[in-house]
Amino acid sequence: MPPRTRYDTISEIAKRRGFFWPSFEIYGGMSGYVTYGDLGTKLKRSIEALWKEYFVRKQGFLELDDPIINPERVFEASGHLENFKEYSAECTQCGRSFRADHLVEEKTGMENVEAMGGEAIKHLMLEHRIRCPNCGGELKEPVLFLPMFKTEIGATGGEVGYARPETAQAMFLNYKRGYQHAREKLPFAVAQSSKVMRNEISPRRGAIRVREFTIMELELFFDPQDPGCPWFREVENVVIKLSTEEMEAKEVKELLETSIGEAVEDGLILTEWQGYFMGVSQRFITALGMPPEKQRFRAHLPDERAHYSAQTYDHEVLFETWGWIEISGCAYRTDFDLRNHMEASGVDMTVLREDGTRYVPHVVEPSYGLDRLFLSVLEATYERKQKRNILHLPRELAPYQVAVFPLVTKDGLPEKAREVHDLLLDKGFWVVYDEAGSIGRRYARADEIGVPLAVAVDYDTLKNDVLTIRDRDTWKQVSLSLAELPGVLEAYFKGEKDFLDLGTLVIRG
Ligand code: AMP
Repeated sequence: MPPRTRYDTISEIAKRRGFFWPSFEIYGGMSGYVTYGDLGTKLKRSIEALWKEYFVRKQGFLELDDPIINPERVFEASGHLENFKEYSAECTQCGRSFRADHLVEEKTGMENVEAMGGEAIKHLMLEHRIRCPNCGGELKEPVLFLPMFKTEIGATGGEVGYARPETAQAMFLNYKRGYQHAREKLPFAVAQSSKVMRNEISPRRGAIRVREFTIMELELFFDPQDPGCPWFREVENVVIKLSTEEMEAKEVKELLETSIGEAVEDGLILTEWQGYFMGVSQRFITALGMPPEKQRFRAHLPDERAHYSAQTYDHEVLFETWGWIEISGCAYRTDFDLRNHMEASGVDMTVLREDGTRYVPHVVEPSYGLDRLFLSVLEATYERKQKRNILHLPRELAPYQVAVFPLVTKDGLPEKAREVHDLLLDKGFWVVYDEAGSIGRRYARADEIGVPLAVAVDYDTLKNDVLTIRDRDTWKQVSLSLAELPGVLEAYFKGEKDFLDLGTLVIRG
């Protein structure tokens, strides 16, 4: 048996406690699909809410919710049908297919093999005698495959449709509406968080590469002659680690540490808008629990870049099990998409400047895979301490905020604890009640699912309404009166108070 990886441990807890597990379990499962349970659904939702705090609400950006299945002509115009392809190698023995570039990477330790192109991939497969990872059989020459789900819209004779592999096209198709709702003023942005589908050739690495996932992205439209971002000052001092296009081309391993301001000034990041979103991105990912030293931005080489992009920086985070993984891409899409949709649809999407000239807006797009952010949060916050599993989830993300326990299940303590539980529910908190087993085991169960605070109801509570609250991260306890409880919890979850400000520290002898 190979050694257990950190990801094995995390996914075991995830299954057992209800964060996520492989889908279609009762029929033997199918790779590339995951199901989120109670805790996972709530955690995903709170990551999405935090994304909106960082990328939508404060900037006053607009939102959109658009269909998943699109008619074929959308993806003809967007260039996806021609360009959104990957190299697939089929086994002559077992018939399974694999991403050819990934096979080369696994065998050789090389990175970004996709960017080298089809001929190089074929050559590397021969040179390294790569065989089927499933049965050891011989592989056919890699061929280009379109990883998009195709369907028919309506009954027979209906139109061909495809499931969208990204949500961005919706913002382009509805550009004129957005422009109108933004009072015909640029810059403005339209954001969408929604499901997309990619018929991935050989999804592996657990939930990192799946066939249905949520993308959270926004398209920022601006005038290329007026490319300034009004909030750039807020991020210009954020220090990031970069691997630029030139560094990638020269295979420089060390990263460049620079401020966002300098990187834009030096032309390493093409526009202020990309710089702005990259700075916000570093803050957002840090707020999810991932420290800046485990984050980097890596430029795509021209061959690796999507067909629409003039420059793309992937935001990557470090996983113990897999190394660097892309969680987001920030692309400068120029006027590529609007121009194509204008030509294909015949609808004018140009904007009139005050000087009477017309232009097609340019676009910068930060795009996040919610499912990968979800895994990043578990990766960043899981700790094994004194034989216990702890998830140090940031307090604004925790699926359940407070656990309530009676010290023992007699003498009226469960009834009193139920009262406290109901009071906190009424006040709007997400609360769990647990009376099974020793209180030590209950604390351990709460730690494992990342409940930040646990309130214990004991004989002091019956006598004079005094409770204790225990902190998941330090295991310290404070005492306070029941009357104070809802107020201090509210302040704690708003980030206005630290744990030790919630009551009087309890020193156990
Ligand atoms: P892309 O358009 O390929 O840059 O994808 C945008 C984001 O979606 C990436 O940064 C990933 O976080 C995420 N993503 C892409 N493909 C997958 C996949 N197969 N499964 C889960 N997340 C994905």
